[in-house]
Amino acid sequence: MRGCAGALRAAAAGPGPVAFRESFDFGGRAVASWFPGHMAKGLRQMRGSLRRADCLVEVHDARIPLSGRNPLLQEALGIRPHVLVLNKMDLADPRRQSAVLEHLKQQGCPHVVFTDCQRDSSVKKIIPLVAELVDKSPRYHRAENAAYSILVIGVPNVGKSSLINSLRRLHLKKGKATAVGGEPGITKAVLTRIQVCEKPLMYLVDTPGVLPPRLGDVETGMKLAVCGAIRDHLVGEDVMADYLLYALNKRQQFGYVQRYGLAEACDDIRVLLKHVALARGRTQKVKVLTGTGNVNVTTLNYPAAAYEFLRDFRAGRLGRVTLD
Ligand code: GDP
Repeated sequence: MRGCAGALRAAAAGPGPVAFRESFDFGGRAVASWFPGHMAKGLRQMRGSLRRADCLVEVHDARIPLSGRNPLLQEALGIRPHVLVLNKMDLADPRRQSAVLEHLKQQGCPHVVFTDCQRDSSVKKIIPLVAELVDKSPRYHRAENAAYSILVIGVPNVGKSSLINSLRRLHLKKGKATAVGGEPGITKAVLTRIQVCEKPLMYLVDTPGVLPPRLGDVETGMKLAVCGAIRDHLVGEDVMADYLLYALNKRQQFGYVQRYGLAEACDDIRVLLKHVALARGRTQKVKVLTGTGNVNVTTLNYPAAAYEFLRDFRAGRLGRVTLD
């Protein structure tokens, strides 16, 4: 049953009948085709730069701190310091931070920094932490070289370019060095060495968008897609919107109710999208042939409404949500 449910009331009243779907029907979808091919080339190039780097700065989306990180990276972790930057913290649920940190620590990932690249202050901790970790570890590649070399990696659209720009603004007072793209995988695999700090002298090898996410199962793929790490058209806006509604309800994140003027929370994507379309004016005129001639009828544009719903989530307008 996917009809509208009085979930807000149910939630307020405490435990009661389960009002929402308990699992999501992925309809036999396969994730194999969800990732563009040019990523493999980037990965090959990256292996070369891995050898030259003193420290790996892995950027990932704070809304999916545990999903989608590439296992190839885990292999590389053993040989050098690693800092996990969980970016877009402004969009993630702050109440989940300590549990996430604890979980990552248990997974052998102790150096985690939460950032919001739109506010440089949160990025401040990275360079001192990197310098400290590199100083503590044997710098076997570059005994004679005083400069630090960092490799920034991560799946598409998590904010790698934004982070590099933010680091440069902070430490060098320089403007944009790297193009920031809204489409996942849009930045091609070009390796550039970018200075980010004068004292200590620190360089970044920028490899935007080269790590393919680990699509272990369809749900992981869907979370990545909802956060914008996979191109929308490969997955389909309709199923992404439906999954997002399911995920929001599961976490009792009902920001959408007020935003789209619903009377109560709901588990039916058609009902939600109807409200989105009406609230956001996502309608279209269609010519209908009747017995007495053509009439123009206004219909709801469901695909546009689905995209609007996703955009609102990605911009944090439905609240701060962590999907893991
Ligand atoms: P890349 O593909 O990993 O290099 O990601 P980009 O740096 O191109 O960023 C992808 C999108 O996320 C852009 O629209 C950025 O403006 C946005 N973005 C990056 N960092 C943040 C952040 O900390 N918070 C929010 N809300 N958006 C961010």
